[in-house]
Amino acid sequence: MAGKIIIISAPSGCGKSTIINAILAEGKIDMQFSVSATNRAPREGEQHGVNYFFLTDEEFRKAIAEDAFVEYEEVYPGRFYGTLKSEVARICDAGHNVVLDIDVKGGVNVKALYGNQARSIFIMPPSIEELRRRLEGRGTDSQDVIAERVGKAEFEIGFAKDYEYQVVNDDLTLAIEQTKSLIEEFVK
Ligand code: ADP
Ligand code: 5GP
Repeated sequence: MAGKIIIISAPSGCGKSTIINAILAEGKIDMQFSVSATNRAPREGEQHGVNYFFLTDEEFRKAIAEDAFVEYEEVYPGRFYGTLKSEVARICDAGHNVVLDIDVKGGVNVKALYGNQARSIFIMPPSIEELRRRLEGRGTDSQDVIAERVGKAEFEIGFAKDYEYQVVNDDLTLAIEQTKSLIEEFVK
């Protein structure tokens, strides 16, 4: 039986990766991370094939031309991200559930594409100021990039209502538990 699709979206810095990694690390839910492709540069510690498939602009364009994506978006000017058909198929066809960490437009598109086979969850920051503090605290992005991401957050939060569920990531342990329950209930 084909696996189900869990869509997790949030403004950058809300704690999506932290929440997804905690649930994956616990290993109680049969769910695998779909590694997206991007043309952005790797952050320190990020690995090709683990966090993303890091492609050049030309490689990304070629993947678009070859129809390799379920969806792709220019999330920030000049920076593209896409869900690979090969990743979703590899995981779902083997009967596992797949988790997608994708932007708001991609999330809405994938939900429309997969209907009841997909559950969409939006992670909310407690406030824009706290989001800025988290991006600064993470220490992986320049001030310009942080400003760009904070600037986009309000636009992204406007999409929260288009998701089936919203989880506020204030207390991390609670946010992990709430997200985990929504996934468990969906995949059982
Ligand atoms: P995203 O994947 O959404 O871009 P991350 O998971 O990288 O966000 O989290 C951004 C930063 O915020 C990280 O440094 C992470 O440790 C921190 N963080 C995540 N959740 C919380 C929380 N509930 N309270 C405080 N800091 C948090
Ligand atoms: P980051 O650069 O912080 O890793 O990711 C930036 C944004 O791109 C996040 O909102 C993340 O969810 C989104 N993103 C990552 N992979 C994909 C993807 O395959 N498709 C889309 N549409 N967005 C993605």
